[in-house]
Amino acid sequence: MPEVCLNVKLISHSPQAEKLTAMAAKLCYSRSHISDIEDGLTPEKAADFIAGIVDIGHLSTIEHASYTFGIEGVSRTLLAQITRHRIASFSVQSQRYVSYSKNGFGYVIPPAIRALGDDAVKKFEDQMATIQGWYDDWQAALGGAGEGANENARFVLPGACETRMLLTMNARELLHFFSLRCCNRAQWEIRELAWRMLELAAPTAPSLFAAAGPSCVRGACGEGKKTCGRPGDVKSRLQAILKG
Ligand SMILES: Cc1cc2nc3c(=O)[nH]c(=O)nc-3n(C[C@H](O)[C@H](O)[C@H](O)COP(=O)(O)OP(=O)(O)OC[C@H]3O[C@@H](n4cnc5c(N)ncnc54)[C@H](O)[C@@H]3O)c2cc1C
Repeated sequence: MPEVCLNVKLISHSPQAEKLTAMAAKLCYSRSHISDIEDGLTPEKAADFIAGIVDIGHLSTIEHASYTFGIEGVSRTLLAQITRHRIASFSVQSQRYVSYSKNGFGYVIPPAIRALGDDAVKKFEDQMATIQGWYDDWQAALGGAGEGANENARFVLPGACETRMLLTMNARELLHFFSLRCCNRAQWEIRELAWRMLELAAPTAPSLFAAAGPSCVRGACGEGKKTCGRPGDVKSRLQAILKG
């Protein structure tokens, strides 16, 4: 029964996301026909168009660019949070069709528990082993590994239990997601995932993600009295990503 670590891969994204976005903007603001909309649309011009539309908030134009991530080594606790984002598509490993009896379920150990030291980690691992025993017992009592047993035995699994998913968001939803989840006030696991996704998406379309991240990247912190007080750190992290 292994501890798992975050693994994120950008599986697919719209090719030429910046050009695509700029074409959408150009269509809105010029007399261009579809046949000539790409004419003269250099990377520099596309970046200018994007800066303009982001500035005025004409963000429907960036919805044409789509990003699909493969995500594993995250907890079911994270799943509950990320699936609150409604403008997204998810395919999640099933706890009904996948049995956790053979190799045991994987789990995420929170860094705060790890920081308490080896004894705390051992205690957490022992607790996971106990839960694995409960799962195995119920699965056996319900007829052994199979859809009918798995779907009920899973009720004893913990929030730490690993899940895997394919996630697709368009660029507008990604910016919204980064705004909420890259913030230091967001919970640590989804924050780590959000920054990893930003690291992968930004190089594909730097002008689209130039101001991605929490509100402090673009202006004042939106967290009021609960601010982390470290906007400089957040901006530096984004700049490091954009510089590659
Ligand atoms: C720090 C933090 C703490 C949180 N704590 C809690 C908590 O304690 N309890 C809890 O239940 N949730 C909590 N959440 C989740 C939060 O309430 C949202 O459900 C989640 O962040 C998804 O955000 P969203 O609804 O803006 O975005 P999405 O679902 O990603 O939608 C994007 C945008 O589309 C628009 N939109 C989408 N659907 C609709 C709709 N039906 N009607 C109108 N406009 C729509 C909105 O403008 C929305 O912002 C927390 C989130 C964060 C970041």
